[in-house]
Amino acid sequence: MSFVRCLECPRCHSTYTATEIHNLCQCGSPLLVRYDLERLGQAVKKEDLKSRRADLWRYWEFLPLRGRTGKTGNKGINVEIVK
Ligand SMILES: [Zn+2]
Repeated sequence: MSFVRCLECPRCHSTYTATEIHNLCQCGSPLLVRYDLERLGQAVKKEDLKSRRADLWRYWEFLPLRGRTGKTGNKGINVEIVK
């Protein structure tokens, strides 16, 4: 489940869907990821984070992904991202 709402340009405030690849805004600015913070806050609690393994996937809901598969190994992060 993704909590990404859209991509937004900090310069001209144009918005883009997060389901398509956008490298830059039409004005040339990099895009920011905007999240549904209310829904994210309801789904993830601080206590949940504390009990998770201390690696990148501890915060996976805060990443601009639709989902994930794979596991984190002892030698670093080895994952397959589902689009
Ligand atoms: Zn722009």
